[in-house]
Amino acid sequence: MSDNWKKRTQLVHGGIRRSQYGEVSEAIFLTQGFVYETAEAAEARFIETGDDEFIYARYGNPTVRMFENRMAQVMGYEDAFACGSGMAAVNGALMALLKGGDKVVAARALFGSCLFILENVLARFGVEITLVDGTDNAAWEAAITDETTLVFLEGISNPTLEVVDLKFVCDLAHAHGALVVVDDAMATPVFAYSKACGADLCVVSTTKHVDGQGRMLGGIICGSKDLVRGPIETYVKHTGGAMNPFAAWTHLKSLDTLDLRVRAQAAAAMQIAEWLEQHPKVTYVRYPQLPSHPQHAVAMRQAPSGGTVVAFDVKGGKDACFTFMNALELFTISNNFADAKSIVTHPATTTHQRLPQEQKDTLQIGPGLVRLSAGLEDVGDLIADLDQALDRI
Ligand SMILES: *Cc1c(COP(=O)(O)O)cnc(C)c1O
Repeated sequence: MSDNWKKRTQLVHGGIRRSQYGEVSEAIFLTQGFVYETAEAAEARFIETGDDEFIYARYGNPTVRMFENRMAQVMGYEDAFACGSGMAAVNGALMALLKGGDKVVAARALFGSCLFILENVLARFGVEITLVDGTDNAAWEAAITDETTLVFLEGISNPTLEVVDLKFVCDLAHAHGALVVVDDAMATPVFAYSKACGADLCVVSTTKHVDGQGRMLGGIICGSKDLVRGPIETYVKHTGGAMNPFAAWTHLKSLDTLDLRVRAQAAAAMQIAEWLEQHPKVTYVRYPQLPSHPQHAVAMRQAPSGGTVVAFDVKGGKDACFTFMNALELFTISNNFADAKSIVTHPATTTHQRLPQEQKDTLQIGPGLVRLSAGLEDVGDLIADLDQALDRI
């Protein structure tokens, strides 16, 4: 029956496990270990661990398993493994599947830490990395060959919101026998389309929309049972990347409201994007749902919404941009996104500060670029705040 549930129902009920007390709210099993009735029972559990059996919280825990099962359902995958952060999930997925000599093709517009894993960790172990313009289908065609082991990309890139034609890339990769791993932080679990487009694994930083209230780090790797309970679980459980039960519980409680929050934040983002686009002090706005977005058609074919983040360029570069940001009264300056509180980030001097200038230029991370995350406040108040702050330039 749960297979037929709509996403909003799955978000509230998916994967629930009740103890003998029949609690309504998901229980938090704040335990790292589990007790066996006999030595024989312990031996048996180490030989084969059943679906509702646990050994040690680094391997699995009932609260964490509820979160994994619910997220797998919501993302459309068979199974999922929860990790301590989004980066533990990205690292887990890539390290579990790759070995020296393998060839990876990745979109060049990547989150800084993802780029670090590719270029500073995997490359050190002899994995060959090729970066391409993720929005250019011809570039993917030229780069992916029968030698390619794995393709890695962000469906919607951070911070410039480049959109990859995911079905095209998945079909191409699969025709060459390569696996596709998508880092899906921006798409949001509510509007996620990675599974529908054929991605083998989808990694989500649950720090973003799933927690959505600035409390918890978390990440999850979603995929087939064979991959998740095979190489992924084996790698992550032995290397210590597991999510802790308290984080899983907080995330579960957040999932109750995820659909409502993301839809409200995405609607606010669209309103803000439209408002910014007509403002004389803004050079351009990047938001997938705006017809002016370079990959608008692809984005709208993949998802009904542009998400909760808007990127825009303030005329006058860094000085004008800082004047604007410092004048904001309601928006907070921070580097997370998808929080209930609206946030602005200046990527060129913070999240992407360490990128060489040449790469910043290629990725269009200019001195006037602002990444705006729409929160849950009244959208009229948010626009009024942007208005008065832009006036100060
Ligand atoms: C935030 C983010 C990550 C890392 O997630 P953490 O939970 O901070 O470790 C990875 N990829 C993308 C695209 C992100 O936005």
